[in-house]
Amino acid sequence: MASTTAPSTMDCDLLVIGSGAGGLSAAVTAAHLGLKVIVAEKEAQYGGTTAWSGGWMWVPRNPLAVEAGIQEAIDRPLSYLQHELGERFDETRARAFLDNGPRMVEFFRSQTALQFIDGNAIPDFHGHTPDAGTGGRSVCAAPFDGRRLGARLHDLKPPLHETTLWGMGIASGAELRHFLNALHQRASFGYVAKKVLRHWRDLVLHRRGTQLVNGNALVAGLARSLLDKGGEIWVSSPAKRLLKDRDRVSGAVLHTPQGAVHVQARRGVLLACGGFPHDAARKRELLPHAPTGREHWSAGNRGNTGDGLRLGESAGGQVGRDLAQAAALAPVSLVPRTRQHPDGGTPEGGPMHFPHLIERAKPGLIAVNRRGVRFTNEANSYHDVMQGLLAATPAGETPEAWLQCDHDFIRYYGLGAVKPAPMPLGPWLANGYLKRGQTLAELASACGVDAAGLQATVTRYNRLALDGQDKDFGRGETAYNRIQGDALRTTARGLANPCMGPIERGPFYAVKIVMGSLGTFAGLRTNERAQVLDERDQPIHGLYANGNDMSSVMGGHYPAGGITLGPAMTFGFIAAHDMAGADPDTALL
Ligand SMILES: Cc1cc2nc3c(=O)[nH]c(=O)nc-3n(C[C@H](O)[C@H](O)[C@H](O)COP(=O)(O)OP(=O)(O)OC[C@H]3O[C@@H](n4cnc5c(N)ncnc54)[C@H](O)[C@@H]3O)c2cc1C
Repeated sequence: MASTTAPSTMDCDLLVIGSGAGGLSAAVTAAHLGLKVIVAEKEAQYGGTTAWSGGWMWVPRNPLAVEAGIQEAIDRPLSYLQHELGERFDETRARAFLDNGPRMVEFFRSQTALQFIDGNAIPDFHGHTPDAGTGGRSVCAAPFDGRRLGARLHDLKPPLHETTLWGMGIASGAELRHFLNALHQRASFGYVAKKVLRHWRDLVLHRRGTQLVNGNALVAGLARSLLDKGGEIWVSSPAKRLLKDRDRVSGAVLHTPQGAVHVQARRGVLLACGGFPHDAARKRELLPHAPTGREHWSAGNRGNTGDGLRLGESAGGQVGRDLAQAAALAPVSLVPRTRQHPDGGTPEGGPMHFPHLIERAKPGLIAVNRRGVRFTNEANSYHDVMQGLLAATPAGETPEAWLQCDHDFIRYYGLGAVKPAPMPLGPWLANGYLKRGQTLAELASACGVDAAGLQATVTRYNRLALDGQDKDFGRGETAYNRIQGDALRTTARGLANPCMGPIERGPFYAVKIVMGSLGTFAGLRTNERAQVLDERDQPIHGLYANGNDMSSVMGGHYPAGGITLGPAMTFGFIAAHDMAGADPDTALL
């Protein structure tokens, strides 16, 4: 409750507003450089969307790749970006990112609690573009033992419940494979049983999981590092307005549980409130598919309501309006919620927004529109699939589709929030999330899809799957498609394309997908030092933006996985050096 007494004051060197990767990366670096740092978080738990994410960061030429013998000159990723971004390629900012990314990784792994695993086998999204990488351009946070956070473990936002098993995060790659094979291979069963038993013990002892992976491990590693270096994280403390001292931003007013606090920041204020995924007015303005602002169901953190962009504008900052796409699009299904999960709640009420990141490329799933017709390469990135849906949807029609598969598929891979066997299908059928038909015609009728169209599509798709070639959409042609597929299973079944398998044995299932995102791309315009720019392109003294509050260095394009967290981590590192007056090239290593 707000106090009625006069606001108290506090000072620091750097005030960070928002506790995702964009905020914490700058906070840890600045604390390491000797600055006094306060991180203000609006919600009761820190971590934002970052804590729900895969934790992958696109950082070409990173030290883990180099140590594995993957060496490339800066010109190659730069050229890839130039080809991908076209007229939105900003060489100065792109170079700042590519130059400092490897330094950022080296800094964190040598000086902090955050460690990484490599992405040396992960290709860029668009293998046909010149200089696309075939691996070695990304890193992920290494698993982290949450017990190292002590009492602050309970302030860490848990992973998104529906993407976990009983609240336990599952890492992509080998670990996910073990979970899918748990009923089929003894070694996988053993692996999963051990993890689940440890998780149940954690629930008893700690009231939450402590085997942290993916984005949860990233936030935990950053938070541990910040606390080790003397920084502070204040939860339930939203920033309400910026303070100015003549032409300089000098701090902000926070509403803390103890009342209003005026925080003066000697070196700067960094806005990292995670963009505008839940700001209806900004969505209405910047997302053409959301004419009222409501037709976009982002999977991003519910606290990300565009505060950073508004705070920046109040000091003269400008929101970029010329991006190729203002959000990082993703197919989302709407999961009915019968109760509030402890992991973020639903202040707007309504369903949970489930992002479909894993199953689309697996053999035996197709996406169809209301005519029952495929419209894109389902194995492409989440962003490209939704761009494909937008392009294929006639004007005046709602862009929505159905992910459809057969019984074998859903029991092995699951479908959206529906988990694989032995987890039951019944509750999902009962709450209407999952549609089922004994025949394709029955499924079509349950979904309101054209039955003849769906039958013809599946017949053709099955023929293409047996041929191993998607003559319609090129599914399985790029390295990115193939790594998202399942070569082990298709090879075992004598199929040539790791992304295609026939849909043949009923009952058949479908889940509806709608327009959503992993976050937003349009944000405050900044220079290569992460300083917010005014209408004359001049830096506003004392004001920085990062993460999704910064207009994306990718110009609204999506060339590779990890292109939000990689730049967020890197520009945080750059901004902290700028504020400390230190040289990122030499100061730390
Ligand atoms: C399921 C999923 C998987 C993803 N996987 C990846 C991936 O592997 N790689 C990748 O690059 N991207 C991924 N993304 C996208 C990525 O997570 C986000 O783009 C990124 O986390 C944004 O970081 P951020 O620091 O800008 O915002 P956030 O991490 O969302 O943090 C912003 C914080 O600011 C707080 N805040 C808001 N307003 C205020 C205020 N007024 N005062 C104080 N605090 C405030 C919010 O509550 C929030 O905690 C994924 C997203 C999802 C949903």
